[in-house]
Amino acid sequence: MNIESYIRTTPDFPKPGVIFRDFTPLLAHGPAFRALIDQLKGRYEGKEIDVVVGIEARGFVLASALAYALGAGTVLIRKAGKLPHQTHAQEYELEYGSSVLEISCDALQAGQRVLVVDDVLATGGTVGAAVKLLEMHFSIALEELVFLIELDDLKGRETLPDIPIYSVFHY
Ligand code: 5GP
Repeated sequence: MNIESYIRTTPDFPKPGVIFRDFTPLLAHGPAFRALIDQLKGRYEGKEIDVVVGIEARGFVLASALAYALGAGTVLIRKAGKLPHQTHAQEYELEYGSSVLEISCDALQAGQRVLVVDDVLATGGTVGAAVKLLEMHFSIALEELVFLIELDDLKGRETLPDIPIYSVFHY
């Protein structure tokens, strides 16, 4: 199964000059989606992962499927203002302006083994803020940062602290 063939490349989205990698066709294809999650399950089963953290919004889809496959829990890192209980917040820079990610204060327990999942690693700003949220507020073991796609030219991984990073596909 060539799951990469289900990733669609759309030029000039969301603005001119950006090449957007769209994995919604992969999600829509049952055998391809299952093959992707099975591949990730094979990488992490036996590592006693307690929680798979997903970053809003496309990260949620991958994180919850992987968590189910591993028998782990899922925790959501959301854009500001969406979580009802007390939260920790982390601001991060976008190309124009800034944004804020939040996590519930009681989302994780000390000592849990955690993966963080998002669809794309681009500049690293988004996952960098997620890692700050987790490392500043929780005594967890951050096992690996997991992406479907890494955009190598943007060198996002060079901006991140010394945590293992795994990307299924590199562009
Ligand atoms: P970063 O913060 O690393 O620059 O950007 C990563 C975030 O932007 C991810 O949450 C991802 O969803 C989104 N993103 C950036 N580029 C792309 C892309 O080409 N395709 C998709 N699907 N998402 C992207």
